[in-house]
Amino acid sequence: MTHREPYAICITKGGHLRKAEPVFCEAALNVIRQAVRESKLTYEAGGLFLGDRTGPEWTVREAVIVPSAERDRHAFVLDGLKATQLLREAEVRSEGALSFLGIWHSHVTGIMRFSEMDREANRKLYEQTGIFLSALVVSCPENGKLRMTVWKIEEGNADEAVRIMDF
Ligand SMILES: [Zn+2]
Repeated sequence: MTHREPYAICITKGGHLRKAEPVFCEAALNVIRQAVRESKLTYEAGGLFLGDRTGPEWTVREAVIVPSAERDRHAFVLDGLKATQLLREAEVRSEGALSFLGIWHSHVTGIMRFSEMDREANRKLYEQTGIFLSALVVSCPENGKLRMTVWKIEEGNADEAVRIMDF
């Protein structure tokens, strides 16, 4: 079940409006919401986006929480071994319907910008997986919701957000 319209935005690019991508299912947003709530903004929560990349728009069906590889730090560091294990499990469970679409993590500072460490992680992951989504989640003081900005990482760069959504 997708909830496209409530989150649909259009991004102006080159004078033309283009349909935003990707699409996020409510189930994925719920997992992120719960993980960030549980963190009480005392550490960065994060994990994987899983879903379907066969259509013209990627559909994120699930968000999976991956405990940070460095628990003693506030910063989220993707645990590659754990992430791989969770991805394999999802692939088997879904009989191949779910595949890796990207990563997300929260910033307790509210800064909606990749850190140098994040950029390095994005570059490394791009070398391994090709194009993927990388998202930052912060709490939004204006409306009490979470705000997620999603970038598509191509050639290791994150230039323009493909999606900004409050949920
Ligand atoms: Zn970060």
